[in-house]
Amino acid sequence: MRKHLLKKFKKIFEHQRKNILFNDRVVRDDFMVTMDDRYDEVDQAAIEIEQSMRMRLCNREVLYLKKVEDALKRIEDGTFGECEGCGEFIELRRLEARPTATFCVSCKEDQEKKEVLTAMGRAHKSLGESFSRKLS
Ligand SMILES: [Zn+2]
Repeated sequence: MRKHLLKKFKKIFEHQRKNILFNDRVVRDDFMVTMDDRYDEVDQAAIEIEQSMRMRLCNREVLYLKKVEDALKRIEDGTFGECEGCGEFIELRRLEARPTATFCVSCKEDQEKKEVLTAMGRAHKSLGESFSRKLS
């Protein structure tokens, strides 16, 4: 990939990383304030729901942050923009729409097809896991 493009993506990722880290800190500060205050039971239930929603958002952001950091690493390695499936370059249009993409369109489509095919098998597996957890 050309240098000026790499620079452009690096800027995008660094910006996204900053945004995520900043948001995460805001969420945590809010969380602390809520813990310190006293609420009655009804409010407490509402707060717990809200907190679990926030935690979920937080986890999703942590996952995205990892993707962004992986992408920055790939820029450093010089492997950014290469498809993990076939080793070809990922279409620039795809990278612009989804900068953290690690598969080209055709590999991604293949992957999604496989996922649909194995979805049944995976559903069986997770059922088995929760069943054995209940037994132990
Ligand atoms: Zn590919």
